Amino acid sequence: MKSYVELVTVPSRDNNSTLLMLHFDEKRYVFGQVAEGTQRMLGQNLVKMNRISDIFLSGKTEWSSTGGLTGLLLTMGDAKAIRDLERQQQLERKQAKYAMANPDGSMSNPYPPPPEPKGLTIHGGKNILSTMATTRNFVFRENSGINFHEYDFLEGSVVFKDDFVTVRPLRAFPRQGSSKMTVEENRLREIEDIDLGSREQLKNIVDAMWNGQPGSLQVGKDDEDYVISLVTRLKEDEQRQRNEKAGSSALPNKNHDRDIESESPPKRLKLNSDQTKGDEEPSWDGILEASETGRPIPEFSASRPLRRPWPATYTRSLPGTIPNTSAISYMISIAQVRGRFRPDIAKKLGVKPGPDFRILTDGGSVTLEDGTIIHSTQCLDPPRPVNGIAFLDIPDENFLESTIEEINAWKEERKNNKENCAVSLWVWVVGPNIETNKRLLDYIDTLDGQHMINSPTSPFQDMSLKDSAAQATRLNLLDNENFPLPCPGYSHPSGVPEPEPTDKDRILRARDSLLIDVHPTQGVQLAKLRPRFDYSLVQREAKTKFGDGRYWRAAKAAHEKIAKEATQRDPTPSAADEVELVTLGTGSSMPSKYRNVSATAVTVPGFGNILLDCGESTLNQLRRSYGQEKTAEFLKNMKILYISHLHADHHLGTIAVLKAWFLRMVDTSEDISKLYLIAPSKFLNFLEEYTQIENYGLRHINFISCDSLLIASQQHPDNKKREDSQRIEEILSALPLEKIETSRAVHCRGSFTVAFTFKQPTGFKLAYSGDTRPTNGFVEIGKDCTVLLHEATFDDELRDEALAKRHCTTSEAIQAGKDMGAKNLLLTHFSQRYPKLPNIRRQSSNGDDPLCDPFMETSEERGSTYIPRAKDIKVSEKRHDGPIVSKPDDENAMHIGFAFDMMRVKVKDFWKLESFIPALEELFKQEEKLDDELSEPNENLSKGQSQDKNRKGKKKEGPTPPQPTSKRQQDKLAKKLQRRGPPQSSN
Ligand SMILES: [Zn+2]
Repeated sequence: MKSYVELVTVPSRDNNSTLLMLHFDEKRYVFGQVAEGTQRMLGQNLVKMNRISDIFLSGKTEWSSTGGLTGLLLTMGDAKAIRDLERQQQLERKQAKYAMANPDGSMSNPYPPPPEPKGLTIHGGKNILSTMATTRNFVFRENSGINFHEYDFLEGSVVFKDDFVTVRPLRAFPRQGSSKMTVEENRLREIEDIDLGSREQLKNIVDAMWNGQPGSLQVGKDDEDYVISLVTRLKEDEQRQRNEKAGSSALPNKNHDRDIESESPPKRLKLNSDQTKGDEEPSWDGILEASETGRPIPEFSASRPLRRPWPATYTRSLPGTIPNTSAISYMISIAQVRGRFRPDIAKKLGVKPGPDFRILTDGGSVTLEDGTIIHSTQCLDPPRPVNGIAFLDIPDENFLESTIEEINAWKEERKNNKENCAVSLWVWVVGPNIETNKRLLDYIDTLDGQHMINSPTSPFQDMSLKDSAAQATRLNLLDNENFPLPCPGYSHPSGVPEPEPTDKDRILRARDSLLIDVHPTQGVQLAKLRPRFDYSLVQREAKTKFGDGRYWRAAKAAHEKIAKEATQRDPTPSAADEVELVTLGTGSSMPSKYRNVSATAVTVPGFGNILLDCGESTLNQLRRSYGQEKTAEFLKNMKILYISHLHADHHLGTIAVLKAWFLRMVDTSEDISKLYLIAPSKFLNFLEEYTQIENYGLRHINFISCDSLLIASQQHPDNKKREDSQRIEEILSALPLEKIETSRAVHCRGSFTVAFTFKQPTGFKLAYSGDTRPTNGFVEIGKDCTVLLHEATFDDELRDEALAKRHCTTSEAIQAGKDMGAKNLLLTHFSQRYPKLPNIRRQSSNGDDPLCDPFMETSEERGSTYIPRAKDIKVSEKRHDGPIVSKPDDENAMHIGFAFDMMRVKVKDFWKLESFIPALEELFKQEEKLDDELSEPNENLSKGQSQDKNRKGKKKEGPTPPQPTSKRQQDKLAKKLQRRGPPQSSN
């Protein structure tokens, strides 16, 4: 039973969390903090998630250790759905083949359905169920097999045990000084042990979110009668539709069924009302709200879609709770290993060498010819104990003493039970500056085994997202201002070489991707260690090795072009010139290696900052873009946080950003009532519920709902809440804004497009699409904007998909810009199937090859290197019924740029972006090659060799990883997901 530990995430310049994976051949266990960005780092390090059976969360139940769970589990749930689907299809093919061969069915079917695959359990301390339940309005997966276990310490200690491990969670409480348990600590213990929430009710809600079944409804008492009659009708409608379509799309786990848009809503809802006006979609909530308040129920026309609610959303309010105070650590004991097989003893007992030996070695029993049964235990050496692992999470110094006491108590208990209490690896996950705490270091001195101290303040920090950092570093060669180096402001202690971990270290240096053997050998696997990220090395290689310097030459050509054009430009400055956009996340759906999910920072001089959408890990992206200090500065000046809609890829980073903003304000004791949060009204429910779990300063934030900013033609008099209209006046007078307008997006329920118009002298106008199909409303509010930030999820070949998933194609986005008369257009939110550069084809005005390669001839030979301008960008077009980008009438009408993560562009520099395109294409071509080489290193080997290699290289086992890393894998996953339908909660 071989086992080893893998460090998945460690504190670094761009991450603060620690996550460890314990590997056995058959199973994986994960311990630590699932912080925002975890799934992206798993993908970066090619960590396979499919065999994880249990995740043990450590520390306090706060967003800093749970913020990445929702994103990770959605991805894992989808990956499982794909595997289930493949397994099912494979089985069906086999069964069909068998049925053809045996038409009379006389033989028994050799292909019975496979057993249900084992699920995944998330274990955590108090409030883990409440935390998950707060997300019920934007998370739903059917049959994901994901379960949650919140520890209940009321009955004493909690133990998890299976064939491989015994896991004992320790619970530490904050304590001042090193005295014995204090009155305060005792009080905290008691408070935590009283079950403030109803755990059973929370468990049902969370189960319905992750494993919902038709009928598993959580209905609040007030809504019961109403809801049941309505749902019965909806279910009938759905069933009918399904019967009609039967056979055509009978996929298992079609979770988008839950989001089905019933075209024929129940007749009894056809009540008289003038509630729906403009583009307003009647919503389920509208119905429930109306039914409760006695207001007229919205009318549904046959063509209006009605979203069927997800089971867990029937619960309007959660049982109350308060923030937890304890921090969870783990003592992990590994099961004893079976003793060595003794052939001499087996022979003596009369067993013949051969297959029987194998059976006995594997722990089975054999029957001899004379009927004697020989058990394996008779011919094995006594079992050997394996030393355990400790995972200690100490959020701040106040938890240190209590944790030490808990460890000592655990040892005492093991000793008393005559169990092995030796630990070979101690992983200390500590808060800032605890790594030098004398009490901790003294205690470590008394312990055997190897230690690792993971602290956000330890020196020599690496980068976690090395590939994304490498891309940013290469882009930096193209332009220092538009593509800055990642994580600026960090300096290494000068003159001190960065030490590598070694086998002999008693205190190991934390490094992600570090593997440490637990059994049968022990120690560090140095050969597998990934090199540290090194800016200068990446840049050196980009100039020579990388694509034989082709990218570097293209970058230089772009520079020359820009320098030449600059001399011909009108130098008259405009007031909006210095407005800067930083595209923090430019991918859709889920984070990938090179593109994080939606977020864009806008800095308006004399005004402050706006953050447009806030996908998971936006705070980390801010740090990658601005560095630690400037991020604090950015947050201080953040005036508006805008959330366009409630898909997970647009808002999961909000709590972390707000908390960082709040802590920054508390730290500096500055006036803290200045941030306006503009979001769909439903988002406030989530934020309010979450304040019960953790204080992140919500009461200092001014909330304005997107609905209350709707343009007049879409406003209903009743919709404009009074408090909001006061706040709108307040925001406009507090900030130099002339107006903020929203218009309904055509995407999901409660989705919006927005436009901000600044007062003179700036006169800057910013329009942001969020996710949407093209709408007239957006063109109206975005009229004559300075900058249009528009989603272009799909390229034009995938127009059908754009229609089905309610997104825009590249040319639809460009058309919207032209219709508005936008001066600058920045395209973003690209489908992750284009991990790097969206598929654009260029067509020169003189009819040259549209896919001309600037390196086919040197620039001298050609006369000049062909570089396209916006007017030349022709979106690839297979169909002719869609919009075609033609040359704008006015050549300078609109500058178009493609966004990349961490790219920054000032309004005055938009014109430069077009010149970068040939170099960017070259860059991505080379990176794609590199990725394919890295992710499929065994492809050139023969099958036998490859398998052999797989056995040795632990990272290559298992089927398709859920996080696709190469273009090929991306495409494969995309195709599968496409067959399944839209992932509605994270797209
Ligand atoms: Zn969306």
